[in-house]
Amino acid sequence: MCGIVGYIGNKEAYPILIKGLHRLEYRGYDSAGVALINRRGELSVYKSKGKVSALEHSVDGKDTTGSIGIAHTRWATHGEPNEVNAHPHYSMSKQLALVHNGIIENYKALRAEMEKNGVVFCSDTDTEVLVQLIEYVQHRHECGLFEAVQLALKSVVGAYAIAVLDKAHPEQLICARKGSPLIIGLGTSDQGAHEFYLGSDATPIIEYTDKVIYLQDEEVACMDGSGALEIVNLANVRQTPQTVTLQMSLDELEKGGYPHFMLKEIYEQPSAMRTCIRGRLDIVDKDVLLSGIIDNKEKFLNARRIIICACGTSWHSALIGKYFIEEAAQIPVEVEYASEFRYRNPVIYSDDVVIAVSQSGETADTLAAIQLAKNRGAFLYGICNVIGSSIARATDSGTYLHVGPEIGVASTKAFTGQVITLFLLGLAIAKEKHTLSDEMFHMLVDELQRIPDKMQWTLDHNPNIDQFAQMFTYCKNFIYLGRGYNYPVALEGALKLKEISYIHAEGYPAAEMKHGPIALIDEEMPVVVIAPKRGMYDKVVSNIQEIKSRHGKIIAVVTEGDNTVSQMADYTFVIPDTRDCYVPLLAILPLQLLSYYVACAKGRNVDQPRNLAKSVTVE
Ligand code: GLU
Repeated sequence: MCGIVGYIGNKEAYPILIKGLHRLEYRGYDSAGVALINRRGELSVYKSKGKVSALEHSVDGKDTTGSIGIAHTRWATHGEPNEVNAHPHYSMSKQLALVHNGIIENYKALRAEMEKNGVVFCSDTDTEVLVQLIEYVQHRHECGLFEAVQLALKSVVGAYAIAVLDKAHPEQLICARKGSPLIIGLGTSDQGAHEFYLGSDATPIIEYTDKVIYLQDEEVACMDGSGALEIVNLANVRQTPQTVTLQMSLDELEKGGYPHFMLKEIYEQPSAMRTCIRGRLDIVDKDVLLSGIIDNKEKFLNARRIIICACGTSWHSALIGKYFIEEAAQIPVEVEYASEFRYRNPVIYSDDVVIAVSQSGETADTLAAIQLAKNRGAFLYGICNVIGSSIARATDSGTYLHVGPEIGVASTKAFTGQVITLFLLGLAIAKEKHTLSDEMFHMLVDELQRIPDKMQWTLDHNPNIDQFAQMFTYCKNFIYLGRGYNYPVALEGALKLKEISYIHAEGYPAAEMKHGPIALIDEEMPVVVIAPKRGMYDKVVSNIQEIKSRHGKIIAVVTEGDNTVSQMADYTFVIPDTRDCYVPLLAILPLQLLSYYVACAKGRNVDQPRNLAKSVTVE
């Protein structure tokens, strides 16, 4: 789920590992640890609950020498987040140390079997069975680490990315993966010697080398201090790795002068959206060029239905996508929570198109949902931000967001990027199907092109949200309301507030309020209403009146120049006028800022909110 870093070469490993852990902090985690073999062949494990800085502090004065090591940031799935459960885990004899991302599903049975045979466990984690099992296999089969890892993993059910050290082999770093990403970086030290870096993503590696190998499922790699690299599958068949050159620069990963990644990413949205549509909207010929659709035109023309599988924020963007694709391309669209879809035996036809939406492209539930759809013959399309991610590789075709790395755990620019990508997709299908008049199509293309500028306008014309947010820090609950395209915005606005400020918030379709939530309204309850001068404006005005008469506090998102709602509301955010369908791309911006400033005013850790992780690679 969280982060792995590894190093073998002739440099000191510890500073590389710690720097790598810092680079991975954006993923969110609850504890951290490191294992090193020093030049005397001693294996040491240091770990601590909390931040990487706490680990560094606890290691002060201890022996951190050695040029081989592994490190980890944990997001607990089995066993509470504490020092004992933190990784690396030792084997019983303390000969081996291992770090793991993922979940071992049959850990109970494996543990019981080994306990019967005298193996003593010391943590509550599923992970510990891996290191114990490897040692157990080593003893039983009298084999080396590389072979033992292959043999042990054959009995493991679940998802893993692992890295293992063996005190008896200080010249070998072994790693393996199934279902969780792992990347090997190929470096050369100043003296020209080969060295290897390991990362659960590229961020800890990129400053040392841009030459990487993405380890594939069920592959085990042995990186040798001499520079040799051997990769085999679990059947011990040698694999030929493909070396890829990374395109990402480290600059993109820095905060760019903002106090938090989230604020940087909110303000980055206009330029990120320009990149997202670059080369895809042809404003001269009024066209949409999406190669994923062009290359698979027949699949979309013949689609009986589109099913979009997603989780969290991506589910909200999928809902906006549904409204648009149905309206523009006249194809029925179902939006599914991937976690429900994967387990409920859904009806899937071979002429269905199943779209997976995921920022990281590693979301375990979404990945499993599309694997199910694939087995039933559906055509799979991926919408992800992370290039080369598991979903991108598991789908038949797809579109990357191209909004740059998103580091704040609460998604902002990936959300708007997903929405724009779904608009591009809807427009591209509509064009092939001739479901929109030329005039309407051209208008939608032109207006989409203007959206990044209108986003900039929105960010420039809503000052003082930081001061305004102070007034709401005492609130225990918020309600968010919107209709039509703005209902998913209400859901997303509420989710943002919950995620980073820990204030309870609910989003509702505005008309649903009178079916229950209206009972909650009193002078203590802020109600955020998305009320652009478009679509069902009059109906939303009536909803606002209902709230006013119960003394609720109204925060409204209104179109520039609106007087009616502005006069009724206690506070307004302004957005420029745009087509109904594009309002979410503007209305969400002040709501992201509101959540951000409320969370800051409450002293929350905005970029790494408690209990959340950026890339949810466990179900
Ligand atoms: N399941 C493992 C644990 O709870 C690994 C969690 C992770 O991926 O960080 O320790």
